[in-house]
Amino acid sequence: MMNHSLPRLFVLIVATGVALSACSTVRQTTSSSSESTRTISAETSAKARTILKEAGLRMSGDSTRAYSYDPPGSLNTNDKPVEFQKKRTFAFAGADVYFSNEFDGARLNDMKMVNDSTFIAVLAPENAPVNYSAWYGFKAWTNASSAKTIRLTLTYREARHRYIPKLSRKPSADWHSWSPIDPASYKVHYDSAGRETTSATLHLTLSPDTLWVSGHELFTSSDFEAWSANLAKLPFVKKSTLGKSSQGKPLIRLDIVEAAPGAPCVVIVSRQHPPEHTGTLALLPFVETLAGDTPLAKEFRQKFRVFVAPCMNPDGVDGGHWRHNAHGVDLNRDWLNFNQPEPRAVRDALLKMRDSLQTRFVFGVDFHTTQHDIFYTLSNPPMNTAADSAEYARNPAYKQYNAAAAERSKFVETWLERTQALFPAYQVTISDSPRTPNGATSGRWFDRELLAPSLTYEVGDETDRELIRQIGVGSAKVLMEMLLKK
Ligand SMILES: [Zn+2]
Repeated sequence: MMNHSLPRLFVLIVATGVALSACSTVRQTTSSSSESTRTISAETSAKARTILKEAGLRMSGDSTRAYSYDPPGSLNTNDKPVEFQKKRTFAFAGADVYFSNEFDGARLNDMKMVNDSTFIAVLAPENAPVNYSAWYGFKAWTNASSAKTIRLTLTYREARHRYIPKLSRKPSADWHSWSPIDPASYKVHYDSAGRETTSATLHLTLSPDTLWVSGHELFTSSDFEAWSANLAKLPFVKKSTLGKSSQGKPLIRLDIVEAAPGAPCVVIVSRQHPPEHTGTLALLPFVETLAGDTPLAKEFRQKFRVFVAPCMNPDGVDGGHWRHNAHGVDLNRDWLNFNQPEPRAVRDALLKMRDSLQTRFVFGVDFHTTQHDIFYTLSNPPMNTAADSAEYARNPAYKQYNAAAAERSKFVETWLERTQALFPAYQVTISDSPRTPNGATSGRWFDRELLAPSLTYEVGDETDRELIRQIGVGSAKVLMEMLLKK
């Protein structure tokens, strides 16, 4: 998610029906679960607090420091020290309870036992400061023949609780293989002011059939690889690599290439921020629709190309990072200095298209996840100011950038209006911020360097998964229609 100073929020159309905003979902879930708090003995409670104190952690009743999406230092994108979690199984043989972080996407830094049915999970970010999107992912089981219910509290270093747990006994890339935890088995703890969600307690039923618990459904680099390979079975989809991530993983590139090499191009990127899976749940149907077997998509592909970097941060995704890449850097703050290999690889590929093929970029979108659905757009600043005149004299390209800026903003605005019209019961919320000649996010770089109408497409944490798919499909159709001027 991006952060803008004084965002101007407005809602195009407020739904009268079911507006599936994550905020209301979260409130409903936490209030209903607080009714079902199970009793815990004073002795267990005291012991839990001692363990937490020893580990330097806090639980409900305490406040944690809350960082914004741009904590101090986030715009410095030079490599920073990262603490990689130790991959292991936490065996509490006496209690016959086991936890493990030995899979891609896992995050579980430590486990403490309070008694044989009460446990504390310790979760820490890859490095700090970091915003408080505290990711977790682990699996748990018992070897006991009868099912065993445990009470597990998630505690965080440097953060607060955010994600409603998703559970699976048989996880796959298909979100249907996961379910949100039963609200009756989930309690969020608040600080003394009643606002900050400092930790959460889950009641989990363990059996020899392993239970997977995660902040969102898991979709890791191997799932992106499989999805991309499958799409590349289509004759007009080409799969290649943009380069390597910080830890040497391939950065996937997909090109939809029926139109001539110099045809105008749509740019799609995603997963700069590791936990942001619902953004992926929008990206997949969006791209599949552009590559679809419909008359509209066929006509679109005769005239336009598509460039996709679906997983820009595979190290962070597989490492269960909260925000950063393997160099401890927020990639969506590196589109000014390009200190990190991942944005650099995307930039170089796009500039090569622009400079060697004279490609014109007609749309740029970056998929993310945040607490609620929101579209971050760029508004037009007042032009021809003294500062503009000085910049024109210094940089002739800036004049071109500024000249068509209103047109770019208008294109995005129309796209959102037409998408809204398709989904009257859905609330399209826009956060508009002024266009500036520099800016460190992908959307600003697409606007500034590629002169492409651009935006950041943020999907809520708990937005209905089927609705996410429908909007992904619908908004892709609207884009094709607009580019074809229908
Ligand atoms: Zn993000």
